[in-house]
Order: sequence, then structure tokens, then C-alpha cells
Amino acid sequence: MKDFEILSHVDHTLLKAVASREEIFSLCDEAIKYKTASVCIPPSYVGIVRDKYGAALNICTVIGFPLGYSVTEAKLCEIDAGLRAGANEFDMVVNLGDVKNRLYEKIIHEISALKKAVGNNILKVIIETCYLTAEEKISLCQAVTQSKADYIKTSTGFGSQGAVMEDIRLFKEHIGPDVKIKAAGGIRTRRDMEDFILAGCDRLAGDIRLIRKAIEARKRSYSPYSGFKVGAALLASGGKVFTGCNIENAAFSPTVCAERTAFFKAVSEGEYDFEAIAVVGWPDGDNEDEPDKHGFAYPCGVCRQVMMEFCHPKSFRVIVAASEDDYTVHTLEEILPHGFGPGDLKQ
Ligand SMILES: [Zn+2]
Repeated sequence: MKDFEILSHVDHTLLKAVASREEIFSLCDEAIKYKTASVCIPPSYVGIVRDKYGAALNICTVIGFPLGYSVTEAKLCEIDAGLRAGANEFDMVVNLGDVKNRLYEKIIHEISALKKAVGNNILKVIIETCYLTAEEKISLCQAVTQSKADYIKTSTGFGSQGAVMEDIRLFKEHIGPDVKIKAAGGIRTRRDMEDFILAGCDRLAGDIRLIRKAIEARKRSYSPYSGFKVGAALLASGGKVFTGCNIENAAFSPTVCAERTAFFKAVSEGEYDFEAIAVVGWPDGDNEDEPDKHGFAYPCGVCRQVMMEFCHPKSFRVIVAASEDDYTVHTLEEILPHGFGPGDLKQ
């Protein structure tokens, strides 16, 4: 699948609470550059983004996000404000308490009211699969179909887990023919995106920036002694990416790796939660156009230990890449089994 085909399915997303205007604008610039389906941004930014970019952008925003338990009237007010500010698409979160109480008629009533309010604009219904049983997911497939919403969406990205393929298959079986699927949460590589699209997802929340940014960062490597240039791109949980390169020193021991440069930049900016890191590395002078000749540069032991300090061993993913198409993905636990972390000092 070609890049542009993948990107045309992507809602380029930044929904973290502390996203700055500059970060939102840089997301929008990327969305235009890469021709993504839309940008998905917090409601309070819709107006200024519409003012700045005009009709060039398809703007998606969120309703009752991320917990879903605001009352229907409040969700309707958010839709109204979003429409007036210039949003084209709305990703609402269902009331998960209603799901647990099996109040499906109430849920259908709410989604129908919101669909009516958005009119010809798109309404996606986030059901937050990580908190649901298979039976609840099936009931919600039926509720979304009955309420005539445009999409069913797996996750907010703020729950305990993002999209999994098994749920996409379950959705496919139980939604009506007019309902499309959006997968969200934790989709960070090209291969993941391709897999979800091939499985039948029409939209994705995610990005393929990580490896690309690591390759960019590698170019800034200061490595006059080894000539081995490494770049890293670290994704913080809120969506911000911190890059790093290896920085060598004539005295050798002060040399620092690309991964730690990225981590220390992020931590010094107040970020402590991370989702994934992409790492690329090959000798200076290697033909950039022949990525199949590049090997994988795995993080050294010291960098793995730094990851252990800040990242969850089972969920943090280490993407080691030779190019945007050639990479391998591991959890931190896989590359640092039985790691010693902050929790161990408390025993
Ligand atoms: Zn290292």
C-alpha cells in the first residue's frame, strides 16, 4: 500500500490536555503536507484552526471526551459549539455507565440525537472497547447501527488499551452495512496502519511520523569518532514527539546515545509518560537510497535501563528501523527481560 493511500485514511490526532497552539498548528501543517483525511483536535482549538487554515482542512473534534459520562444536553451543546466553530466531524464517547447498566435504549436515544444535530457532518461513536465485554461490544454495534451514526470507533486513546484486530473483526460481523469503522489508540507504525485498513477500517487515528522523524534526527548526529549516526524519535503519551541523536565526545565517556538524548529532552520538558520510540542507525556515508543495506541498530543496555525508568515494560514499544518500510517492533519487556525499575525499590 502506498503512503498516500494509508494517509488518506488517517485522522491526524492531537488530543492531549496540555497541547499548545504551536503543537496544534504543527499537526495541521503536517496534515496538509501529508494529505490526511482530517485533523482531530480538542474542541477549544477548532475555531482558531478554521480561521487560520480556512477550507484547506477537514476538522474533526471530540464530544463528551474522553470519559463519555457527560449528559446528552452537554454533548449536544458541544456539537452546537463545534459546528459554529467550523468542525466537520465529531467523535463522541458513549456513556459507559449506561453500557454497564444495559441502558441500550438510552444510548440509542443519545446517539440518534447527536446524529440529528450534526446533520450531514460525520458522527463517530467511540465505545472504548478496552472496558467492555464481547457481549457489550456486540450490543453497541447494534446500537450504533440503529442510531444511524456514521462510524463505530474503538478507543479514545486514553483508556487502558487501544485498538486490537480482534475487535475490528467483531465489529465487521455485527455492524450494519452503512456503518464504517475507525480504529484508534496505539497505532504507530506503517504496518499496523496497513493491517487495520486491510481488515476493513475506513479511518485510523495514528501517525507514521515516528520512523520518519528518527531518520530526520539521525542527520543531526554528532559522531566524528565512530562515524555511526543514530537518530531516535520518542512518542509521549499525549502525542508530542521528542527527537534525539547520538552526541560523541573526544573524551569518549561523555558520549550519549540518541535514545537518551530524546528521553532527557522530554523529561526536562515535563513529559514522563511514553508510548513508543523509533530508532535508526547506520554508518555515515551509507547510501541513503539503499535502505535494504542498513541493519537494525538496537538500543544499548544503558538506554534500555533509562526506558525502564519511565516506561511500562509490557506496553512501551521499541521500533527499530532500517527504513520506513523495514522495521521490527518489540515491547520493552522483550528487549529488557526481568528489568529492574522504580517499582523494585519499593519491595
Ligand atoms: Zn544507548
